[in-house]
Amino acid sequence: MNDKKDICEICGKDLVYALTPKEYKDLTCEFCGKIFNANTFCEDFHYICDSCHQRKAIKIFENVTETT
Ligand SMILES: [Zn+2]
Ligand SMILES: [Zn+2]
Repeated sequence: MNDKKDICEICGKDLVYALTPKEYKDLTCEFCGKIFNANTFCEDFHYICDSCHQRKAIKIFENVTETT
């Protein structure tokens, strides 16, 4: 069973999902500092953009392959 819950990677709170473009927020990525119109963000308005998410996932993957 894969029960993966989306939480903020900065503070661990639940993520908020904007249902309409009106609810999207212009937020600064915590990692690269660029501003994005985000539809998924922390309730404290932390945000990590897709490319930083991917970079992080790749890094984790590399670490896993290194240690195994
Ligand atoms: Zn947060
Ligand atoms: Zn970023």
